[in-house]
Amino acid sequence: MKAISILGATGSIGKQALSVVSAHKASFRIYGLSANRQVKALAQLARIHKPAKVVIAAEDLYQELKALCRDLPVEVAAGPAALAELAADSEHELILNALVGFAGLGPTLAALKAGKVVALANKESLVAGGHLVMPLATNNEGTCLLPVDSEHSAIFQCLQGQQGQAVEHIILTASGGPFWGYSPLELAEVTPQAALNHPNWSMGAKISIDSATMMNKGLEVIEAHWLFSLPYEKIKVIVQRESIIHSMVAFQDGAVLAQLGAPDMQVPIQYALTYPKRFSSRAPRLDWKAIDSLHFAPPDMNNFPCLRLAYEAGRTGGSLPCAMNAANEEAVRLFLNGAISFLSIPRIIEAVMNKHKLIKMPDFAALQEVDQEARHQVQELAKKEG
Ligand code: NAD
Ligand code: MG
Repeated sequence: MKAISILGATGSIGKQALSVVSAHKASFRIYGLSANRQVKALAQLARIHKPAKVVIAAEDLYQELKALCRDLPVEVAAGPAALAELAADSEHELILNALVGFAGLGPTLAALKAGKVVALANKESLVAGGHLVMPLATNNEGTCLLPVDSEHSAIFQCLQGQQGQAVEHIILTASGGPFWGYSPLELAEVTPQAALNHPNWSMGAKISIDSATMMNKGLEVIEAHWLFSLPYEKIKVIVQRESIIHSMVAFQDGAVLAQLGAPDMQVPIQYALTYPKRFSSRAPRLDWKAIDSLHFAPPDMNNFPCLRLAYEAGRTGGSLPCAMNAANEEAVRLFLNGAISFLSIPRIIEAVMNKHKLIKMPDFAALQEVDQEARHQVQELAKKEG
């Protein structure tokens, strides 16, 4: 039985991971669960999955969670430090980091320092702090970083049994999001509601907006750079409208390997939990009779400049991807609140990147400052955007 903790258990990835775990009760045991502010949902999950520990990130909700769990044999804790402590706990083998945003970086570092296997959905950990994460993931005995993001899982699966030096390049597929093919005039008018409505995937709010702006693909380019230690010119993006090809690896002999499947996160989540084995799954199968064609297109970096900005930030490196990521998080939050327009998102991110004072090798404390500073700048820029 593998003891597992899930950070961000109440979210889209967290809930799907719990359903994977429930389908394989003989193989997995839940040790710890966390949430940000959803106390009731977390207490409910504690009742069902009987973890030894639960952590609520919002400290003001500690008493409420404690009261909701009073009849359960579970240790209750609160705050970001408790979250990092749970990530590093000696009682579990694997943590799934399904937190959203920069908040995931601290727990990722804590888990890897403690020699844990980390199944990483939180791509922002690698975007903001890849240079801190990867040495811990590769130099420490026992630690291991397993991708959960569907594209990176696809590439990871295609690389099994292959020699890394034979890779010519990788091709990340993108759906194009709900606004693919829209004109700038149409993009200027899109609402948060329309942006939340992804054609192929059902996901948390932040990543849904990232998919609509294509910043999600930009974050994934940087994520791939760190995970597979590839230079940016070897990371290509192609739009694959149906999200059936999850990504591809091109080798130096001309062969291209792809991983295909129905657009469903259960498969990559489960592969990270069972790696190197494959278990049975109730995930939907591809219906070949229903697929008459697959559509491909180059990415449109004029109408969706976030992808271009992310390549720029990744190539520059240092603290710039962290600043870009924070600006994006804050701009997405403001867009979801109705405070700025869809097209303000890339404009604001670019302005923050242009102002950024680069730190070449930022440590964690420096990244926290960069993150805060970029968020503050977005607030100021948003007032001007109106
Ligand atoms: P979500 O918003 O649905 O869930 C996020 C979880 O993290 C929730 O449990 C929430 O309570 C918790 N959380 C949020 N902010 C927090 C904070 N500041 N401190 C502590 N906990 C916090 O998000 P999601 O869609 O499940 O995405 C999670 C991560 O997985 C993201 O990095 C996303 O990019 C990545 N991802 C998601 C999908 C998907 O299908 N949803 C696919 C690929 C990658
Ligand atoms: Mg993805």
